[in-house]
Formats: sequence, structure tokens, C-alpha cells
Amino acid sequence: MTIPKAQTVACVDNPRPDATLEIRRDAPVPQPGAGEILIKMEYTGFCHSDVHNIKGDLPVSTNIPGHEGVGRVIQVGPGTSSDYIGKRVGIKWLYSACNTCPICKTGRYTNCPNQRNCGRHVPGTFQQYVVSPAEWASPIPETLKPEAVAPLLCAGLTMYGALKKLDKFCQKGNWIVLMGAGGGLGHLGIQIGKEMGYNIIAIDSEPKRDICMKSGAAAFIDFREDAEKRVKELTGDGFGAHAVVVVVGVERAYDQGVTLIRPTGTVVCVGLPRIDYHIPISPLFCVDRGYQIVGSAVGTEDELQALLKLAEAGKVSTHYEVFDFDKVNDVMEKLVKYEINGKAVLRLPE
Ligand SMILES: [Zn+2]
Ligand SMILES: [Zn+2]
Repeated sequence: MTIPKAQTVACVDNPRPDATLEIRRDAPVPQPGAGEILIKMEYTGFCHSDVHNIKGDLPVSTNIPGHEGVGRVIQVGPGTSSDYIGKRVGIKWLYSACNTCPICKTGRYTNCPNQRNCGRHVPGTFQQYVVSPAEWASPIPETLKPEAVAPLLCAGLTMYGALKKLDKFCQKGNWIVLMGAGGGLGHLGIQIGKEMGYNIIAIDSEPKRDICMKSGAAAFIDFREDAEKRVKELTGDGFGAHAVVVVVGVERAYDQGVTLIRPTGTVVCVGLPRIDYHIPISPLFCVDRGYQIVGSAVGTEDELQALLKLAEAGKVSTHYEVFDFDKVNDVMEKLVKYEINGKAVLRLPE
């Protein structure tokens, strides 16, 4: 296969609130260095956090967003095994971690302070050709459709990682609330949580009832209802949920979520409200009631492979819409207005 010199990318040179993406057809094709592979991308998800990066909410040091990419390895860098050639791989938010800091050494490399993120520190998946360290690219089974896998690489993995945190605190049959259960992450979280043996209570706005129930929620609550009362009724013993996972980055979801847990309950933070917001829990309650507050960032490679096995078994499936790469700005507009059903996936040009 001949590798061209120029490629098509979608980029943003000056992130700001009214920024849009520019499609460029003359961007250079990157070259893999030692230990790296070159991947020809097939599909990439378009995540809400990409929108934040494009709109300038987070400082970024690359002009190419995207962190949910699937493609095939077409070239390897010096000293890199040629066995990678032809393999389908996934590129994720966690582009690499240092493997040497004390955090990595405990195995919790998703929290490595020296990590590099795709579309934040290094050029992302909104390009036809992406370079990645070989060891950080995720093997993807051929049995799965690449467009269906893309959203699992961030949205699915984030939910798997968050729910897996509950292993320490919860048991099968426990009641877990997902705040913002009907969105791109949430609908996957319902399916994953159910597979882990939990009873999932989905909280979202009324139009999301259908996707939540189809995804396997045990119950749906409109966030405008008296959720505290409903959750206590549903859990049978009147004590509330064993855990709440706040999926959306909305302050109201945290305010409401913390009222739903029982003594010894756990709140898992996933969604990111503005940085000066604080979760309203008194230390007195943490002491008296034994609450746990934990954060969860994406997920590990083992967690991703476990999730892909669930997808292969037909137990987790993404609700997604595929768009041509040229439509990238229309997709962003829909994302901003929450008009995408499930996850948005872009098809890279051939
Ligand atoms: Zn993402
Ligand atoms: Zn590290």
C-alpha cells in the first residue's frame, strides 16, 4: 500500500466559543517513530469533550481533536514489530502514560500525571492517518463493526471504568442510579451495569425514557420528579441507592445525585461541571453515614477488552449515527444542542 504525503484533517487553529472546524486536504501524513505505528483511520467518534476543546474550555496543544478512532495499522516505525501491520486497532483519550511514576506503578495509569491525551496534547483522530505508540493502541476484534466500536473507546470505556470502581463497595443486585442515563455515555452505562449484575435506575429528561428502558434500566425517573422519594420506594427498604454515578457534567445532577444514596453509599464522579463547582456533601455525612466519593477517568486496557467481549457477545450495543467527515461542523452543532441520538460517529474519507 502506498502512503500519500498529504491527508485530509479537521482542525481548529484558534479554539474559542464560536470556533468551527476547518477541513484541510493538504496536511502532512505523520511518520511513525521508534516503537510507533501508523494507522489509517476508518471511523472516529465525536465526543462532547472534543466540543469543549474546540470551544476553548480546556487548554490544548494540538489543533486536531478526536479520541475515539478505529483503523488499521499500515506502517511501523524503526524497531517496531511488523506483526502490527494489517491489525485493526483503537486510539483512545489515553494516548500514553509514563509507566514509571508511582501512580503508574500501582496500576492506576489512567490517573498518571504525565499522561498524554489524544486531541489534547497530541494530534487526534480527526485525520486520515494517526501515529500512536504501538503498546498503547488497543487491539480490536475483526468480528465487530469498526463504526460500532468507535464510541466504546471513550464513552463505553468511561462507563465501564466508572462502574467497575463499585466492585469494592457494591454487590450484585444492588441499586445503582445513573444521572444522565439517556445520553451517549449513559445508555452504554445502563447496559454495562446490568451485565455487572446491578439494578440500574436511570434518571434523565422525559424524552430519554425510551432509550433508557430499551437499554435495560430497571426503572426510569424524570429528573423533575421527587427523585429521592422514588429511589427510596424502588430500593424496597426505604434507604436509597447503593451508589450514584453522575454521568453528565451538570451541577444540578450532582446536587440531586448526592441526595439519593443510602448510608455507606458511593458517589462516582464522571461528568465535569465548571471547575469552581463543589459537590454539596458535608463531612459530617461522610463520617456519620460512611459515604465514599470517587472519581473515575476513562478505563484501563483490561477494562476495554472486557467491554469489547460484552459487545462481541451482543450484550452491549451502541446507539449511534454515522456522518460523512465533511459534515463535521453540522455534527458539532447537533452535539451542542444535544440533538444526536446516542453517539455521533464520523466516517473518514477513503
Ligand atoms: Zn470522550
Ligand atoms: Zn505515570
